[in-house]
Amino acid sequence: MALIYKEQIRRTVDMKDWREDIADEIIDADGAYLAPGFINVHIHGCAGSDTMDENHHALADMAAFLPRTGVTAFLPTTMTEPPEKIAAALARVRQAMLAPPNGATILGAHMEGPYISPQYAGAQNPAAIRRVDRAEIAPFADVIKILTVAPEEIPPESAAEFINGAQESGIVLSIGHTAANYETARKFIDEYNVTHITHTYNAMSPFLNRAPGTVGAALDSAAYCEVIADLVHVSPTALRLLYRSKGAGKIILVTDSLRSAGLGDGKGELGGQEYEVKNGVARLADGTLAGSVAAMNECVKNFLTVTGATLPEVIVTVTKNPAQELGIYDDYGSIEVGKRADFVLFDTKLQIKTTVINGRIEYERSA
Ligand code: FE
Repeated sequence: MALIYKEQIRRTVDMKDWREDIADEIIDADGAYLAPGFINVHIHGCAGSDTMDENHHALADMAAFLPRTGVTAFLPTTMTEPPEKIAAALARVRQAMLAPPNGATILGAHMEGPYISPQYAGAQNPAAIRRVDRAEIAPFADVIKILTVAPEEIPPESAAEFINGAQESGIVLSIGHTAANYETARKFIDEYNVTHITHTYNAMSPFLNRAPGTVGAALDSAAYCEVIADLVHVSPTALRLLYRSKGAGKIILVTDSLRSAGLGDGKGELGGQEYEVKNGVARLADGTLAGSVAAMNECVKNFLTVTGATLPEVIVTVTKNPAQELGIYDDYGSIEVGKRADFVLFDTKLQIKTTVINGRIEYERSA
């Protein structure tokens, strides 16, 4: 199949109907696989920069780096920090949405915390955890696309108002960094129509035979489950169980990567806390996993290798599923006439060969 595109995909042409003069410029895929561009809905940083960095180049640095990992659109992800720091980060994301830098498209922000459980803070700063506050998110309803909250930390009397208010603004609520038991998590999914689980298995009440926890609710419901497929945060067995219980249609691969992604081993900073990367594993001083240094194309390859899912199924977890969850599937997430010309070419090792965003080549691997 061949694609004819400008900013949008104009036509798909069967190879039997192909003629050299059909286009002005031709990219020869040279036997590579073609897929829609990958969408990463949970990424703190990469290439030395982080969403919380108080400067105006961090988001542009991230956007410039991501195409080499197959990512064509992403949600820079904030950390649990004081209100003014989160507000400033969200304002920078808004600025980058209005005046887009080159590279991957900034679709908005994933706000991870600060309304989370101190018991499951993970690498989030426990000192900055606080009660849900509608007034904090309302001014950024246009920017926040996903909000990670711990259901049990929302006072029951204000839960309906807070959740409905966020959802009416188009924000996807996500359950994460939570001590919620199975019943509480299920209530949020079933009664409040919460459709998203933040990095399933990590920083949440685990699955036990008589207390299935948030993990049980994630596996046993129709919610989309994010998962970090770097093979550090989640074991191959747990990835297989996720795939078997959810099916590829309800899984969203994320990297949850740190500024160290793309840089190799060394020290770094996340949400005001220091971490060290050794042999590709990032930990805080107390040993807590701090996030990944993985690239999305590696996560795709890992998931493919360990779960037995087919390649088209795995591609859906980084394209169609996140696009549907964000309500942007009319423009993103598949290769169809009329959609944005966002796509990637890659080889059997999932090495990215070419990345096209909005019809422009944003990455080409040097031969
Ligand atoms: Fe997290």
